[in-house]
Amino acid sequence: MSTPILEARGITRRFGGVVAVNDVNLVVGKGQIVGLIGPNGSGKSTMVNLVTGELNPDEGQFLFEGQDITGLPTYRRARAGMARSFQLLRLFTSLSVEDNLLLAHHMRMKTGIVDSILGRASGLAEEQAARRRARELLAWFDLEAFADKPASELSIGQQRMVELARGMMSEPTLFVLDEPAAGLSPPNVDKLILLIRRLRDEFGMSILLVEHVMRVVRDLCDHVVVLDSGVKIAEGKPDAVVKDPVVVEAYIGS
Ligand code: ADP
Ligand code: MG
Repeated sequence: MSTPILEARGITRRFGGVVAVNDVNLVVGKGQIVGLIGPNGSGKSTMVNLVTGELNPDEGQFLFEGQDITGLPTYRRARAGMARSFQLLRLFTSLSVEDNLLLAHHMRMKTGIVDSILGRASGLAEEQAARRRARELLAWFDLEAFADKPASELSIGQQRMVELARGMMSEPTLFVLDEPAAGLSPPNVDKLILLIRRLRDEFGMSILLVEHVMRVVRDLCDHVVVLDSGVKIAEGKPDAVVKDPVVVEAYIGS
């Protein structure tokens, strides 16, 4: 088996007396879609923030393509090939869709944002490459017609797509998605499922997917990890995991 894209080993994170994530191991293989599920407050968002480096663990280790990335800041992880989307959309609503892609890209990668905005020679080639990539991604996501529109004029479903396109700007190899189906209508959930599958199949993306909508988890995930009160209580194929009495009990008890 090839080296996994992501490996979490014995990850623990406390907030005061609360152990939000408790000794969790998790592996995302290359080209896999791994689901992270669990009732409210079970530690999913904390785990995502630990993976991306927004938070640091009290104990444990993260490996990215076999390299220890524990303690690295988010921008270093972004450069290494990690991207994320947020549960609550973080678009700049007054900026155009295309500028949202460009700005977030520069911020995340900590490239020369000032040079880029001023169009200075030093950043010009890079700026042109970023613009080209933004246009290509907007076409891929079927958002070309909205490139110059303020993000505020788009529907929630479209804004979710912009959020994904934005994450793709840095050419990630691991995409961490925090509840991408949140707030979407059932037809848009169907579209999202197709799109996420295409991200994997066409770009070879590996995906860690936090999701509440079970249909999304069952349709997409190769493997699912279930958290309850910060502890991993089950993992395996989605169909088996959702029937596991321990998992059913955790959801009913919550
Ligand atoms: P989920 O995303 O599964 O709903 P979270 O990771 O948000 O769960 O929360 C897990 C636990 O950690 C909860 O008990 C929550 O109250 C606590 N928690 C999360 N973030 C913080 C924080 N910044 N400060 C204090 N407690 C937190
Ligand atoms: Mg959450």
